[in-house]
Amino acid sequence: MACLVTKGPILIIFGLQVVYFTLSKGVFHCPDCGGDREYRRRQGRNFFSLFFIPLIPLNKTGSEFVQCGTCKGRWHVDILTVPTTAQLASLPALLLRLASAQALRSGDVTHPAARDRAVTVVRQAGDHAYDQGVLDHDLGRPFDQIRAEMAHAAGALAPEARENILRAAAEIALTDGPLSVSEEETLNAVGADLGLTRVQVTGVISLARQSSGR
Ligand SMILES: [Zn+2]
Repeated sequence: MACLVTKGPILIIFGLQVVYFTLSKGVFHCPDCGGDREYRRRQGRNFFSLFFIPLIPLNKTGSEFVQCGTCKGRWHVDILTVPTTAQLASLPALLLRLASAQALRSGDVTHPAARDRAVTVVRQAGDHAYDQGVLDHDLGRPFDQIRAEMAHAAGALAPEARENILRAAAEIALTDGPLSVSEEETLNAVGADLGLTRVQVTGVISLARQSSGR
């Protein structure tokens, strides 16, 4: 919006101009591009402008939005809660990692074969940086913190994938012998955090028992 005022020989053009500021940047899954793209989280602000130069900041306009760096599409900031393709790809490994740590800590955390098994399954799932050191770090984290993290991440995976993660955790827990009461309780908690029903959890654990012969 611009106005024109002439006062004698002087011409003045003033008005309101919206200036967009970038609040933060990152990578998101753009629905229009259909892939992971860089975004800018932005918000507009009205400025009093003189000769089209924004001079005085006024009120903010509208709400914050996310703008795709590629197609320039604009989205509500809620879109940032949708996992990116890269995040989705790393989810099975992340959940396996958390479930393995939970299973191990409920039994003998020093058992070499159980620890090796945990490291192997997580690396096979794609987290090649995972090793005994990272495992120890996970074992040192609060149990309930890991539970919350698992519950948050599990929803994006198919039920079969979540069952496979519980199965792997049960097999780790079975490596050092039959399941103890504490191991069984932990596996039930892991199953619940993975969003599995009681029946699914019981079925997966009994399959793991059968295949390990314990
Ligand atoms: Zn886009």
